[in-house]
Amino acid sequence: MNKLKNKVAVITGANSGIGLATAKLFLEEGAKVVVSGRRQEALNEVSESLEGDFITVLADVSKPEDNVKLIKEATEAFGTIDILFLNAGIAPITQITEIDENHYDAIFNTNVKGPILATKEALPHINDGGTIIFTGSIVKQKAFDGFGVYSASKGALRSFSKVLTSEVKSRSIRVNTIAPGPIDTPIYGKMGLPENALEETGKGFAAMVPLGRFGTSEEIANTALFLASDDASYINGVELEVDGGISQI
Ligand code: NAP
Repeated sequence: MNKLKNKVAVITGANSGIGLATAKLFLEEGAKVVVSGRRQEALNEVSESLEGDFITVLADVSKPEDNVKLIKEATEAFGTIDILFLNAGIAPITQITEIDENHYDAIFNTNVKGPILATKEALPHINDGGTIIFTGSIVKQKAFDGFGVYSASKGALRSFSKVLTSEVKSRSIRVNTIAPGPIDTPIYGKMGLPENALEETGKGFAAMVPLGRFGTSEEIANTALFLASDDASYINGVELEVDGGISQI
């Protein structure tokens, strides 16, 4: 119950899916949590369902000034930071022949620039021995049509996390990446696919997973808790696939 007692956690993309499940679990485990998202309405809504010591911060991670605001409000509320979970992301689908600058910028600004700038802002406030967790994806290992730019963004994030692991070693800050497989979250409804194609895509993903199903947000939240807690005290620099085995076969 108290694996994160007195720890301060900042979570981006925390109003939905994996981020929300992780916020709930971290609060249950005694953490003080900064629940961040880009829509005030969604933050108000999740505030009603969360219990414990938390604040919400409205921050669009694709905007540099919002990353400054996020860390400023987090540290004003709770002092220093122990756990930074950079989870916000988008995954719009586009065939490579249809890619345009807007598609590229939206994905890279959210999935790469955001976490990089948030890390830079947070680092002076992260306690020595703290931990940073990125949400990557198994799309870095496997090719799925339509996910070209998204896959590139998660690959870029993984490369950044390796350099970060090295640069913070003198402070004993652990840096790890969770690479989820297909997880049942609202992200699929935001990909721009028509309903029937969405259903087909879903069935296709599930069939490729050795366990034969989508994972749940709670299964990723449990992984984030493990990596954030002392149970993972010697785990550093890894990318941990939580994917029912899809990336392994
Ligand atoms: P989700 O339910 O859509 O959650 C994504 C969260 O990120 C939402 O809260 C979303 O806000 C937020 N977000 C998006 N753009 C943002 C921005 N510019 N600034 C701040 N917040 C922003 O989807 P999810 O599946 O939980 O995704 C979480 C992470 O897991 C993402 O990085 C995704 O790439 C990764 N992932 C997911 C899967 C999967 O199968 N679900 C697989 C591999 C990796 P809104 O509610 O406003 O959209």
